[in-house]
Amino acid sequence: MKSFPLAQRSIPRESVHTEGNVFPLSASPANASLEQAGDSLDIPRYKAYSLPNFRDIPQMSGLSEALKFDIEVVGQVLPFKVDNFVLEQLIDWERAPEDALFVLTFPQRAMLAPAHYDEIAALLKSGADKPRIKAAANRIRLELNPHPAGQLSHNVPFLEGEPLTGMQHKYRETVLFFPSQGQTCHAYCSFCFRWPQFVGLAELKFACREVDYLIEYLRKHPEVSDVLFTGGDPMVMSTRNLAGYIEPLIEANLPNLRRIRIGTKALSYWPYRFLDEDGDALMALFERVAGSGRHLALMAHFNHPRELGPEAVQRAIARVRQTGAVIRTQSPLLRHVNDDPALWAEMWSRQVDLGCVPYYMFLPRDTGAHDYFSVPLVRAWEIYRQAYQRVGGLCRTVRGPSMSADPGKVQVLGTSEIGGEKVLQLRFLQGRDPDWVHRPFFASYDESATWLDELQPAFGEPRFFFEDHAGTD
Ligand SMILES: *Cc1c(COP(=O)(O)O)cnc(C)c1O
Ligand code: SF4
Repeated sequence: MKSFPLAQRSIPRESVHTEGNVFPLSASPANASLEQAGDSLDIPRYKAYSLPNFRDIPQMSGLSEALKFDIEVVGQVLPFKVDNFVLEQLIDWERAPEDALFVLTFPQRAMLAPAHYDEIAALLKSGADKPRIKAAANRIRLELNPHPAGQLSHNVPFLEGEPLTGMQHKYRETVLFFPSQGQTCHAYCSFCFRWPQFVGLAELKFACREVDYLIEYLRKHPEVSDVLFTGGDPMVMSTRNLAGYIEPLIEANLPNLRRIRIGTKALSYWPYRFLDEDGDALMALFERVAGSGRHLALMAHFNHPRELGPEAVQRAIARVRQTGAVIRTQSPLLRHVNDDPALWAEMWSRQVDLGCVPYYMFLPRDTGAHDYFSVPLVRAWEIYRQAYQRVGGLCRTVRGPSMSADPGKVQVLGTSEIGGEKVLQLRFLQGRDPDWVHRPFFASYDESATWLDELQPAFGEPRFFFEDHAGTD
């Protein structure tokens, strides 16, 4: 392990700011004195484990061979990668295999339907060759709804008649941009709806190398105020690569572009991204965004309060905040991981203590191992409400539980009884049509429904109001 006295390292020369402006790694919130010896932190080398080498993970030695075989079976179909920070600082090995962070990152037998599991297990046991296993895995993958919410067909923007792959424009104000070098993550979440990108379903991959198209598109679409860099995790890119996208965007001086967001799980899975030498350059880049008068938001993904505990994570958060960037947090509600109101209350409250702003509680999308993770809508609302009731107003910036469905982001507002009929009340937080947003609508009460398409309109209506628009495509 290498120890970096971070506070003393020099600032990249291309920085337009004075050195004093680029904050050294300062104290964690508990330690306000900035320049003490405690500022140095051991920064380990990144090491990833996946199917070929997960049996070498020292902490796995206590787990049964049957469990390792399950990982091997399920890992043929769903993505699996974990890194040394997750292994050493996040997973509670005393509680494995039930531990929430273990479930979050390691494939579980029950993530596959029994027939799918048996098929892959039989192939492995019979010593089938790789192409055969892969063919079976790909067939199973295609049965797991790899593209929920019409991502590919509906949301691709066009420039002069040409589709812009690697971008999505679904909601008026915000364009999503998928930089091609950012289509992986430091570790993979076993629930991830982006899983097809990680398992090499090649025709399903979409990513963009050309920031020029994005700039051109933004010029022609003055209604867009936000660009959201997403992936994968854009923070797997080197600062140089990331700057290759962000700097031209800033230099284009588009009056409509007010906010740049970056979706990331790196604060949790590899906080050293913000603390090592390339992290210095990253902080300088973040400051240049702020210096251009634009708002930079890190849309940080945390699923469990334990992820906020390690010192490296707290330092990374403090450091990002010092650049003027705002960290907003979001997570899906996941059975086996965080389906407990006390846990959410603790998570939001710790986030606020660290200066982050709770943003969304999502419901996991209907893809991949959805059946394993999903929580019924009614139960999800109860968890949200019970958690929300326990926290103070600064935590109540969070909105949810929300489904990112084809017509938009739909929030479950709760259950009620209207005219003798038990109903679920919902509304759009974001809509394909902006006019849908914040119009309450009602579905027949359904205790087991886990997604919008399992709900029926209440009061004997033939369809939901938004289906008049979207129902034909
Ligand atoms: C959530 C989301 C956004 C961002 O929506 P905000 O409510 O502005 O955070 C943009 N595009 C897509 C496709 C999304 O799912
Ligand atoms: S970090 Fe984000 S994109 Fe990567 S696997 Fe997890 S949820 Fe998916």
